[in-house]
Amino acid sequence: MTDLEKLALAMYPDVDKTPEDYENLYPPRESGGAVTRFAPSPTGYMHLGNLFSASIDFLAAKDGGTFYLRLEDTDKKREVEGAVEKILDGLSSFGITPTEGVTGSGTETGDYGPYVQSMRKDIYSCYAKSLVEKGLAYPCFCTEEKLSAMREEQTAAGETPGYRGKWAVCRSLSPQEALARVEAGESYVVRLRSERSANKVTVDDCIKGRLELPSNDTDAVIMKADGIPPYAFAHAVDDHLMRTTHVIRGDEWIASLPLHMELHKALGFRAPKYAHIAPIMKTENGNKRKLSKRKDPEAGVSFYKEAGYTGDTVLEYLMTIANSNFEQWRKQNPDAVLTDFPFSLKKMSASGALFDFDKLEDVGKNRISRLDARTVYELLGAWAEEFDPDFYGILAKDPDYSVSVLSIDRGGNKPRKDMAKWSDAKDVLSFFYDGLFEPAAVLPDGVEGADAAKIIEEFLKTYDPADDKNVWFEKVKAICPAVGYCADMKEYKKSPGEYRGSVAMASAVLRLAATGRTQTPDLTAVMAVLGIDRVRSRLSAYAELVNAGREE
Ligand code: GLU
Repeated sequence: MTDLEKLALAMYPDVDKTPEDYENLYPPRESGGAVTRFAPSPTGYMHLGNLFSASIDFLAAKDGGTFYLRLEDTDKKREVEGAVEKILDGLSSFGITPTEGVTGSGTETGDYGPYVQSMRKDIYSCYAKSLVEKGLAYPCFCTEEKLSAMREEQTAAGETPGYRGKWAVCRSLSPQEALARVEAGESYVVRLRSERSANKVTVDDCIKGRLELPSNDTDAVIMKADGIPPYAFAHAVDDHLMRTTHVIRGDEWIASLPLHMELHKALGFRAPKYAHIAPIMKTENGNKRKLSKRKDPEAGVSFYKEAGYTGDTVLEYLMTIANSNFEQWRKQNPDAVLTDFPFSLKKMSASGALFDFDKLEDVGKNRISRLDARTVYELLGAWAEEFDPDFYGILAKDPDYSVSVLSIDRGGNKPRKDMAKWSDAKDVLSFFYDGLFEPAAVLPDGVEGADAAKIIEEFLKTYDPADDKNVWFEKVKAICPAVGYCADMKEYKKSPGEYRGSVAMASAVLRLAATGRTQTPDLTAVMAVLGIDRVRSRLSAYAELVNAGREE
């Protein structure tokens, strides 16, 4: 046994496997497709950027590939209970379902697990041990105090802080010295023995193109004193053994890419392909900045759920950011499922797109306009039950009535686009529900109270909820002469002075009386849904109000 082997054994007496064992346990995958992963930390907060990368992972693997969920829970301080369920629930509400990996409440599926990093300690130890045996990693006994003093000195001298060069004192301990200290029970971390190459490292990023970066020169920690690896080492080992083909992640990781490349090399791995995604930006006082967890509510994925954007709205919106040809495709393929889109990593923009609320709203309006009334009722109901229980009570009191309310102007080739998200619904629909209806107390421009009352009186004499739009309008025209109104708009425009008003003004009276609003969907349909009793009582109450108002 060499001295290095003795040292490695003392550091990892319990490791009973070799890297070859793991290579055999997790053989290269047979499916030819891309293998991607979403690898969140269980902090309970999902940033829109996380959802963005998960959606890219999902689409990149859609053609016969694998998209798995791995939990990066090595930082136990940041862990929040129930976070995994929240992540899974979050993903599925946006229509993203991993095909492998963590499935919640301690369960997982797939042959490449465990998919929870805290359960992979043995694996990391095995690879760390093998690096020590080869002299590619070493134990470092420097205390926290010593390291922070080092960082201070380096900063004062204008150097980038890091365990390198003359500062890397434990690097030059002989294996025997190191062994003695390990055996004496001193606490240590394990560090990579960096090659300190003077050459640049070149990576062909799937999104950013060719990256040329200075090589790593730091003896980074690969195993902490508690035997848990930091991100870089866990990433290299996991993505290799889980046979990830594409590591898709935020571009804040580019700075550590040289270290990751050096780790792959030291471990004897072929590096996966990298795709670094630019962050979603926003403008503030004319400056572009990243969407911030602290400052922007829309940075958190829960914002969209609370506002009631449908899952596919958010996903489709993210696709407009991901591939600029998406919108064109969607126009040409309005009924296609998202996974039919020929998504391409190469077409992703290398610089950060601006978050565009107007576009999100447009996507939402389009998506909701395409749903049938019953689906809208169900989705809106589910949202309201959670986020607006009073409104839910109103909607659910008479489901059939609500479905007919939602049926108005839906299903034709020009459906209404008045809701971008479910929280818009209450305002759009309120006048249909007596508990929310706010009667108008004003008259349309140019209409006298007595005339309005007369219009209503005449209208109610002949109104029949079964009338179609044309019959309805003919009836409104027919009452005009009795009120001194002109039934023909052309004629009225020619000589308005000769009439007390026009048929358009008569309709406006009826609309305001029935709905309290000056703009609504087709009034014939609205009245038919409101029902004769409601129409009668609202119209009569309005007539009384405006007439009384005039007489005072
Ligand atoms: N756990 C890392 C994060 O949440 C994952 C980064 C990656 O995808 O590699 O930022």
